[in-house]
Amino acid sequence: MDSLLQKDENLLWHPYTQHKKALPCLAITKAEGVYLIDENGNKYIDAISSWWTNLHGHAHAYIAEKIYEQALRLEHVIFAGCTHPPAVQLAEKLLPLLPGNMGKLFYSDNGSTAVEVGIKMAIQYWRNKNENKRNKILAFRHSYHGDTFGAMSISERSVFTLAFDNYLFDVVFIDTPCQKNIHTLIAEIKKQGPETLCFIYEPLVQGAGGMRMYDAMLMDEVLSEIKNHGIICIADEVMTGFGRTGKLFASHYLQKAPDIICISKGLTGGALPMAATACNNKIYEAFLSDDKEKTFFHGHSYTANPLGCAAALASLDLLEKEACKKNIELISLQNRQFVNELLANKNLTGVKNPRSSGTIMAFELQSGDNIYLSNIRDEMISRSLNEGVLIRPLGNTIYIMPPYCITKEELGKVYLVLKKIIDRFGS
Ligand code: PMP
Repeated sequence: MDSLLQKDENLLWHPYTQHKKALPCLAITKAEGVYLIDENGNKYIDAISSWWTNLHGHAHAYIAEKIYEQALRLEHVIFAGCTHPPAVQLAEKLLPLLPGNMGKLFYSDNGSTAVEVGIKMAIQYWRNKNENKRNKILAFRHSYHGDTFGAMSISERSVFTLAFDNYLFDVVFIDTPCQKNIHTLIAEIKKQGPETLCFIYEPLVQGAGGMRMYDAMLMDEVLSEIKNHGIICIADEVMTGFGRTGKLFASHYLQKAPDIICISKGLTGGALPMAATACNNKIYEAFLSDDKEKTFFHGHSYTANPLGCAAALASLDLLEKEACKKNIELISLQNRQFVNELLANKNLTGVKNPRSSGTIMAFELQSGDNIYLSNIRDEMISRSLNEGVLIRPLGNTIYIMPPYCITKEELGKVYLVLKKIIDRFGS
């Protein structure tokens, strides 16, 4: 009989995978807390929280029970013309926790769609107000906002978008702020301002673009100038949300709040696919009209899925617990200590720019130009798997973003494996 892996190879097409060359998959049959367990019983620490989704550990009994209870009551219902308790309860709980003054929550089902919704809200906002002179969108260089066409358009052009570049709409890309460029950046915003309809940004940490971190005070200067021009600010907190950077949302480090915020990934604690886009009442009110053309014509079959909402409510319960907040602080502290250790070790010439933001820690390996497309990356992943840790470098960038339930010892083991990778692959 064919093994799980053989059947997989016959039947399935995996994301971001060159199947002619790919390493064999891990056949994961179980998971428990921070561990993924394969069909042979091998355990791996999920140091990247399964694509940054998992907050409280895998197969969490509390979240599982809440999903089960909800499934016995109401598993799904069309959300146009119907509502249900978990959707309302989640909005009631979430809206006050979000940065800014969010008045309305619009559900969808993944990070890319949360972003599409945000961009479409911003574009239609101006149309509904009959203001036609704004036709530009501003985004950051090195940004990543998802893989659907709108989300690709507002993301840095790269090997991920290469095949589609001719079909993407134009966006004005600006640099993330630093001491050196802040004046030219402000001048650029002044120039583009009158024609710009919205600005989208990943607050403080650009995820898939390489865990690039930038300064909160300088970002407030950028946002302040953006707001001077009445531009709609869209915070993409799909990755940074729900405690990743230490605070509940990365925007909480900033004085200037967004008008629209996109969330997903950690929303359900990593248990079910779900996303939401929240906006303030200024945005929402531009859609209220006797003219039906001003309706927001957007929706998905699984909008506000009750099981997803139940999982999100359960995850928020766990996130509010003192023990969870403490764990986030402890991981953040350990990350800072590890970064300091790397910075202090003058023999580690293979490591560049170690840094952390809360529970996210990253550094670059000085070796080779583009590890993303090279075999070195596969070798790094294999070696760390052999040591019982799952990582997934972004090009030359090695990073971790563990579930909050990871213990001090488990995190210590992850650092040890990273040190071995530095010894082996850092030049
Ligand atoms: N925005 C950001 C900041 C992300 O990191 C991601 C996913 N890595 C997305 C959007 C897209 O989310 P999804 O993969 O769920 O479509």
